[in-house]
Amino acid sequence: MPKTHDDLRRLCQRLDGRGYKAYKALQGEYRFPRFTLIIDHVQADPFAAPTRVRVRIPAAEAGFPPDLWEHPSRRVGAEHYLAEAFIAQAAAHSRPRGTGHSGILRMEPVGQAMLPRTAVRLGPQGVEARFTVGLPAAGRRILGHAAAQLLTQDLPRVVEASLFYRAVDPQALRAYAEAAEDADFLRARLETLGLVAFVADGSLLPRRSGVDDRPLPSGIPFQSPPSLRVEVHLPNAGVVTGMGIPQGVTLIVGGGFHGKSTLLRALERGVYNHKPGDGRERVVSHPMTVKIRAEDGRYVAGVDISAFINNLPLGQDTTRFSTENASGSTSQAANIMEALEMGARVLLIDEDTAATNLMIRDRRMQALIAREKEPITPLVDRVRQLYTERGVSTVLVLGGSGDYLDVADTVIAMDTYRPLDVTQKAREIARRFPTGRVSEAQGPIPRPARVPLPQSLNPRKGRKEAVVKPHGTHGLQLGTQTIDLSAISQLVETAQTRAIGLALVYAWEKYMDGRRSLAEVWALVEKDLQQGGLEILCRTRYPTGDLAAFRGLEWAAALNRLRTLRVRA
Ligand code: ADP
Ligand code: MG
Repeated sequence: MPKTHDDLRRLCQRLDGRGYKAYKALQGEYRFPRFTLIIDHVQADPFAAPTRVRVRIPAAEAGFPPDLWEHPSRRVGAEHYLAEAFIAQAAAHSRPRGTGHSGILRMEPVGQAMLPRTAVRLGPQGVEARFTVGLPAAGRRILGHAAAQLLTQDLPRVVEASLFYRAVDPQALRAYAEAAEDADFLRARLETLGLVAFVADGSLLPRRSGVDDRPLPSGIPFQSPPSLRVEVHLPNAGVVTGMGIPQGVTLIVGGGFHGKSTLLRALERGVYNHKPGDGRERVVSHPMTVKIRAEDGRYVAGVDISAFINNLPLGQDTTRFSTENASGSTSQAANIMEALEMGARVLLIDEDTAATNLMIRDRRMQALIAREKEPITPLVDRVRQLYTERGVSTVLVLGGSGDYLDVADTVIAMDTYRPLDVTQKAREIARRFPTGRVSEAQGPIPRPARVPLPQSLNPRKGRKEAVVKPHGTHGLQLGTQTIDLSAISQLVETAQTRAIGLALVYAWEKYMDGRRSLAEVWALVEKDLQQGGLEILCRTRYPTGDLAAFRGLEWAAALNRLRTLRVRA
């Protein structure tokens, strides 16, 4: 006989007053009237990682129409909505009830981006939600009646109010599914349109603050310049107009505080789909768009940066450049080469976070310091080559150097948050004021294919199990090492960082053999993820709800910053 919610209630009550360990008896499956509760793992004490549970609602009970889950993009949007709904209900219905996490129902938080995630899965079988509960205790003594209340009354209330079609706002739910479908459609159209990014008219780009990703309420809506205006027909929103950023080299210029960096940051996040009301629902960029910045102090393992840096004073080899403490220019060069290694197609660079000496070297400086004495080939001499030889486009925010006018295909001026197409004017100026610069680029841009050495990243280090622990979104503990991801601005959720850590362990156990290159290893991991979902990364015998989708670019970025990493070129 399967156990029921009544059995669970009685069991909890019987445990009242006993030592915390007795809670282990709760592990198992329980039938509730309209769903099944699965208690996968019971926490060891009130302060330990809380108890992991799942709720399964059969399709017939959950009642979600197939149009919400048959299409993969729409499904992700709908799942995001359900996760938000659950989180809101959990906040309303759970309250601290004792020591530590006692009484808290928690689902992994979701941000502005609608990412595939493991917290809520919607499909032909119905709904499965994964979350945690803090089993109540006073000190280390079980509060059995509080546990019964939490698991058999509050939890069902949260579930019934958020994971059933009849309980949610069907229009809002559908809007999430449609926004996700439109954004994926739009992103898939970019290549055919010859674009690297699209920013719809009416979009709201500025955020409340550097730590608050919600839209700035008083923001001025985006308006495209007529000459760059593109019209697209979306499956749900219908005809939409906006600014298309063409492939090639694009400059974003304009005075300080006119919205250049804000536009670039929106493009950087355009690799993700944003939820309705975010303001960036129809701001999309090529999926292989990477923000490049200077990151002095970072670790670099055997990267060929010779396209940008050569003839270092002490004769260091820059075709296999390693350092514990990169400078601004070497770190930025490494960031570019590592992005190319993983197949980046669009580079985004902002003067605010770039190394000036890697960006430009004007005629006067060329005259003052001889070529042989300057190890750096500035990006201005490589950026066209990146496009013509490698098909890699670049979007640069640059208010301070006119030298780039010679190499730009498109020039956009931001004027009080409004983009103007100044490409023609820029061409005339480039003709009227020749810089007289001589390009310093020599030879092709190398195609690095480093092989990570598996013995250099043991995430177990004397333990039975690998240690993977995100420290916020921008730090990752892997074994005994902590990886600094503070420069990786396209990581937006802690659940992504956790998934990346697990995917590094997965790759290390399965595919890193000392022969496959980094990109080859990732291709295999990516294929497994496509087939089996993020759940394949879980190292438990049950799926956990704390993972979100990530790109190979960020996965590699994490590995590249692991200070024990060694590679073969
Ligand atoms: P720049 O890079 O040109 O110096 P920023 O992008 O940093 O300018 O923007 C300067 C300020 O203007 C920021 O505080 C930003 O939030 C704000 N801002 C940017 N775009 C808008 C907009 N469309 N509406 C209102 N404020 C904006
Ligand atoms: Mg700026």
